[in-house]
Amino acid sequence: MNNVKGHCVCGAVEILIKEYGNFVYTCHCDNCRRMNAGPVLSVDPGPKENVEFTAGTDKITIYHDEEVERGFCSVCGSTLFWHDPAQNHYCMNAELFDDVIKNAEFGLELFYDMKPDYYTFSGERKKLDRSFKEI
Ligand SMILES: [Zn+2]
Ligand SMILES: [Zn+2]
Repeated sequence: MNNVKGHCVCGAVEILIKEYGNFVYTCHCDNCRRMNAGPVLSVDPGPKENVEFTAGTDKITIYHDEEVERGFCSVCGSTLFWHDPAQNHYCMNAELFDDVIKNAEFGLELFYDMKPDYYTFSGERKKLDRSFKEI
């Protein structure tokens, strides 16, 4: 799917993903859960060149979480992305994109060893621990 549009809750930040698969994954790590009130569901558009911020770039706040960047809307607080500058790699909050979540294939759970016991997603999919070893 190409040229998928998304936006944050208040609409200030608009994003275009130029090219992506329908693959959605989650991360159970402490910082993702703390920032998102639970495991964040992400779509992986790959390199930065596939992501265009079409409105509200001045509303994006970046928190530097060690070597990666966590971006959120400074007006409404919506999580926007996780970005690893060293790898030129973006992961976007899948829930910003209505067309992504309509067609999503939920295929991977990361940092599964950090998941608390009180929730579990239904269905079977690949699970990796914090050292990216399959569980
Ligand atoms: Zn917003
Ligand atoms: Zn995480």
